[in-house]
Amino acid sequence: MAGLTITNIHKKFQETKALQGASFNVPVGKITALLGPSGCGKSTLLAIIAGLIEADQGTCAWDGERLQGIPPHKRGFGLMFQDYALFPHKSVGENVAFGLKMLAWGKEATQRRVGEVLALVGLPAYGPREVTTLSGGEQQRVALARSLAPHPKLLMLDEPLGSLDRTLRERLMGELREILSEMGQTALYVTHDQIEAFTVADQVVVMRAGTVAQIGAPQEIYQHPNSPFVARFLGLDNLLPGQARETPEGTLVSTALGEWPLEGTFHGEVTILLRPDQVHLGPGTGHHLRGTLTKSTFSGNMYRVTVDVQGMSLSFDFPASTTNLPAEGEAITLRFDPRAALQIL
Ligand code: ADP
Repeated sequence: MAGLTITNIHKKFQETKALQGASFNVPVGKITALLGPSGCGKSTLLAIIAGLIEADQGTCAWDGERLQGIPPHKRGFGLMFQDYALFPHKSVGENVAFGLKMLAWGKEATQRRVGEVLALVGLPAYGPREVTTLSGGEQQRVALARSLAPHPKLLMLDEPLGSLDRTLRERLMGELREILSEMGQTALYVTHDQIEAFTVADQVVVMRAGTVAQIGAPQEIYQHPNSPFVARFLGLDNLLPGQARETPEGTLVSTALGEWPLEGTFHGEVTILLRPDQVHLGPGTGHHLRGTLTKSTFSGNMYRVTVDVQGMSLSFDFPASTTNLPAEGEAITLRFDPRAALQIL
């Protein structure tokens, strides 16, 4: 298979099982995000791909050829860390040229390439500047230029925006995606932040405890999380245990909060997800939930509302333009179309 193929990787540190059979593919020309909570094995996997540590079991291959035994500097992969550590006493151009010098590029080719990558990251005239005079965002782009300069077959980015403040991070996520996808750069982007993964990547690999929980396009994963773990990790917390059964009218699921029709054929014990984006405020056509609004948080573009329904805490998002939201402590009525709002996990 083209690109990077990770097959059944295991790695133990003493008693800690950091990786327990991780497998996935990083396709050429696309950005793949490795997303998962802290401690799930993301950095260990990067170190194995880079050749910095060895797996106990399993293989990494590039275009079908195994990487085992190939030293890190011969793999042709680039790495960019959160702590991207530019040399403070060197100019922007010297920083970007650093890797090329190590690879013994000639002076002319180096100068040309430095100019090219600085233009690529939107800093064409920055070569002579001292890096200490740059803003955080500019330094980050210089670090990106430095890691792109040697034409890495695969660029690995380990939480590259981790140390920046939120506003800057949000802007740079979009910029990073634009630069990398315009170049057709094959990239593996490690993050614990769901929004970052979804913004940057074409494909997201969700990891859990050393294994792969789900792989798909961001939209696919958000629309169809395959397990309660993935749903919770994406902030889809309204999970209810239920009992599904077939009836002449289709599948019905009964839960502590009511009995609802479902798309598809299911039988027996299930976990259902009530999607927060498919539930609306107020009475009207549809199925209803009645409860008490316990908390409402305004975040600029929406209200996140917590509702207690028969002792169960559920959360929903309503647009910022909503005018008839009850106050905290008041009764609230919600309506939804079960076929759109309910999913079996
Ligand atoms: P992530 O990058 O997803 O936060 P890591 O790959 O850093 O996860 O860590 C996975 C697990 O392996 C964690 O439990 C971590 O404590 C453990 N671990 C990682 N590196 C070492 C090491 N060198 N020695 C011992 N345990 C380690």
